[in-house]
Amino acid sequence: MAEYNPYENMLLILERAAGLLGLNKNDYRTLKYPERILQVSIPIEMDDGSVRVFEGYRIQHSSVRGPCKGGIRYHQDVDMNEVKALAAWMSFKCAVVNIPYGGAKGGIKVDPRKLTKKELERMTRRYTASIMPIIGPQEDILAPDVNTTPEIMGWVMDTYSMVKGVNVPGVVTGKPLEIGGSLGRVQATGRGVRIVTREIIKYLGLSPKQLTVSIQGMGNVGGTAARLLYKEGFKIVAVADITGGIRADAGLDIPAIQAYMEQGGALGSYEAPGVVKLENSDILTTQCDILIPATMENQLTAENANDVKAKIIIEAANGPTAVEADEIFNEKGIIVVPDILANAGGVVVSYFEWVQNINGQIWDLNKVNSSLEKIMVRSFNEVLGMKEKNDTTLRVGAYMLAIERLVAAKKIRGFFP
Ligand code: GLU
Repeated sequence: MAEYNPYENMLLILERAAGLLGLNKNDYRTLKYPERILQVSIPIEMDDGSVRVFEGYRIQHSSVRGPCKGGIRYHQDVDMNEVKALAAWMSFKCAVVNIPYGGAKGGIKVDPRKLTKKELERMTRRYTASIMPIIGPQEDILAPDVNTTPEIMGWVMDTYSMVKGVNVPGVVTGKPLEIGGSLGRVQATGRGVRIVTREIIKYLGLSPKQLTVSIQGMGNVGGTAARLLYKEGFKIVAVADITGGIRADAGLDIPAIQAYMEQGGALGSYEAPGVVKLENSDILTTQCDILIPATMENQLTAENANDVKAKIIIEAANGPTAVEADEIFNEKGIIVVPDILANAGGVVVSYFEWVQNINGQIWDLNKVNSSLEKIMVRSFNEVLGMKEKNDTTLRVGAYMLAIERLVAAKKIRGFFP
């Protein structure tokens, strides 16, 4: 099997959606190429005095609909193709939810668990300085992604502001509240996942009480989704993270598990009556109605897709489903709510944070959450409308909606020079 390339994955769906829209190849050709790729080497003096050099990227896919926007990820598997795909997905995501942004992504190839906090801070500051020429509140706005926290966003904001000689909170979102972060931003992606889950089951005529859920990943996104879905009455039967997985047919006590994890407990070692251990890879194929992958790309593949028991998959992660798996799900009638819709809650509230920063406002939580709700429900219905009108999947419907908006903007703007 050829090595998985998320960018190729993205191009296949782009072609399919553009074909269904009846677009001329010239209309969407630019979407196949990122506008700008910046690769940087980040030298860090480690605490022991040794020097290491990390590989970093900032890739801007499209600025046609507004400033580029997207997170930065710290992970040992980061490479150029991954960041290119993640940047393109951001352009499509922002277009699906119709916020005035293009798409970008950044990353550093590093396992941050192996750095001390001081090393992490130095790496973040040096990375920010290295990509400084192409970022800014009207150029390209950073945010959290895998393994990057509000604290790290604070270092980005401080580094940018110090070099500019003026406070620039709008260069990065997902900041701590004390320096211009938004209420509700930390929970926003998980909240969006909850909203689309509710909308899809409403559409299918189901009720939360009948439905069992399995969640891969109990970080910020998976953990928030677990908490909110539990509250809404869904039965969360299985959860897993890198420390292992657990399952309880009668339903897991999510608040108790999260309290245990907050005390430093490893999820995989959690014990309670009725709770059994689950192999990490089994989280995706365990018996459930709704599966929520909330970790990384390429989790659902040609190898395991036939073993998936869920009827509905909500993609809280970016790119968790390979194209081959998507085809298997489609044939089997498994409904996939795609990443560029399902996990868009994060960037929507990032947009609210940026609006607050630029206008010197502070919104209350109610305003943030009700505005998020409105955008997620509207976007869900627009994607659903596309899917039904064209008799296709929600994923292709979402891409069609995004591409239509991107192509329309490009047509109006024209070419320079
Ligand atoms: N990293 C998140 C995503 O993939 C959030 C991006 C943002 O808020 O800009 O959607």
